Amino acid sequence: MYAKKGIWPAGNQCAAMITVNLDAEYFIKIFHPDADVDDGDSYAMGRNGMLFGLPRLLDVFDDHGIKATFFIPADVARRYPDQVKEIARRGHEIGCHGDRHENLALLTGEEQRKVLQGAKETLREITGFDPVGFRMPEGEITMETLQIVKELGFRYSSSLSNSDFPYLHKEIGLLELPTDWALYDLPYFAFVFDPPVQHRITPADDVLVNWQKELEGACEWGTLYNLQLDPQAIGERGRIFVLDELFKTMKEKGDIWFATGTEVQAYCAESGQFLE
Ligand SMILES: [Zn+2]
Repeated sequence: MYAKKGIWPAGNQCAAMITVNLDAEYFIKIFHPDADVDDGDSYAMGRNGMLFGLPRLLDVFDDHGIKATFFIPADVARRYPDQVKEIARRGHEIGCHGDRHENLALLTGEEQRKVLQGAKETLREITGFDPVGFRMPEGEITMETLQIVKELGFRYSSSLSNSDFPYLHKEIGLLELPTDWALYDLPYFAFVFDPPVQHRITPADDVLVNWQKELEGACEWGTLYNLQLDPQAIGERGRIFVLDELFKTMKEKGDIWFATGTEVQAYCAESGQFLE
């Protein structure tokens, strides 16, 4: 599949999968696994993301007719049921992102199974959508995690940043829709300032240029363009325009297949267009 064009439906040059990690106040656990999620600046940042960033994000998606894939820790759905129901109501895909944003590699196999099964059921109960996509909470996973994910009925993982193309975890039979650090808003807009996580003041225009360059590359090489967004980062008042501008660029460019995780997985599985 290296440098091969025309692998996507209708001759599109790349597949754009727009994803949101809905971590809310669990956001800080990416950086401080033992942190109290209900306290401090990071709590405010996560909560503001849900209150202000998420509505902006949803409106930009609607403006451009884009269906995104939201990876949600089940406890965020318990804390914010109205917001999460609204995401499902607007037709976005609901994927699983753990229960309390656990670092799964630190749990036993039995514990991981319990966490992920419970999270899947909670998300289904609250949203009415049975999640088939899995993204690991930032941290670590093992092959055992992916084996459990497969056994629980998930059809794909979108967790690892180790390829430009969808590929198969051969020994497990699970498709990976890989991510990309350059297409993730957090490295640009957040940093660790001990003790809490703080905003990082990267010029927003620089991020837009990076994401546009990545798009050029994705179209040139025919890869997956897997964008990862956080309401508390890109949804902030001075940054949301980056997303609007990026979508305008993508629509003007054309030849880009916008798809949810499930749509990419289904297409790859049916067409055999994935790396072995
Ligand atoms: Zn996360």
